[in-house]
Amino acid sequence: MKILVPVKRVVDYNVKVRVKSDNSGVELAGVKMSINPFDEIAVEEAVRLREAGTAAEVVVVSCGTAAAQETLRGALAMGADRAILVETDAELQPLAVARLLKAVAEREQPTLVICGKQAIDDDANQTGQMLAGLLGWAQATFASKLVPDGGKARVTREIDGGLETIELSLPAVVTADLRLNEPRYATLPNIMKAKKKPLDVLPAAGLGVDVAPRLRQVRHAEPAARKGGVKVADVAELVNKLRNEAKAI
Ligand code: AMP
Repeated sequence: MKILVPVKRVVDYNVKVRVKSDNSGVELAGVKMSINPFDEIAVEEAVRLREAGTAAEVVVVSCGTAAAQETLRGALAMGADRAILVETDAELQPLAVARLLKAVAEREQPTLVICGKQAIDDDANQTGQMLAGLLGWAQATFASKLVPDGGKARVTREIDGGLETIELSLPAVVTADLRLNEPRYATLPNIMKAKKKPLDVLPAAGLGVDVAPRLRQVRHAEPAARKGGVKVADVAELVNKLRNEAKAI
């Protein structure tokens, strides 16, 4: 079984994101970028399945600029076997990414695609679902457990108020939630080994896919600044403030 894991290069989750002064987007100049955290979980799951003998190969793929090679090398250092960069300087929205990934899936013929449940930059939570729709494959989103078994996979999903377990026919697209696993840190020897693993660059233009944006981003704004807190002397003062100032009770 071959597993394809799409990984996105995003602003590192520790960075305090700043909106550009003209509100046209987010400041990316000089900002630390990393693999999308849910994609790191997806890579970990795929590598564990290969280590368990369930999968034979883990291929990671990223759509974006040449800088995403660094992100792919990180995934290779975690244990992926091979990487593909679908290279483009175009701004990619989820539908465009799903179409590019469909083209890659048709070439690679994976049995399973494990995406992250959402990219922490645009928070779209769309790409995996669109990819499954375009391929006509089964999908299971927000997976917290994934057990492939023959031509099927059993997936436990995180839903409001509990867990749901569903069975899918393979091939399928699964999107990884936070509790699926705890990703490993890449060790120095594995970082060195990753430099020699194959990384193919496919120009997006050669895939015959329409990547034109369908949505226009109108405006970006910082969240409203929070007011500082106050210390209260006792419970009575707290209740008084909640009742008469905040009017919360
Ligand atoms: P989104 O729909 O943008 O929230 O992204 C959901 C998932 O789709 C991510 O966690 C990745 O697995 C995948 N994905 C999104 N954008 C890209 C990209 N540019 N390259 C590769 N995978 C991506």
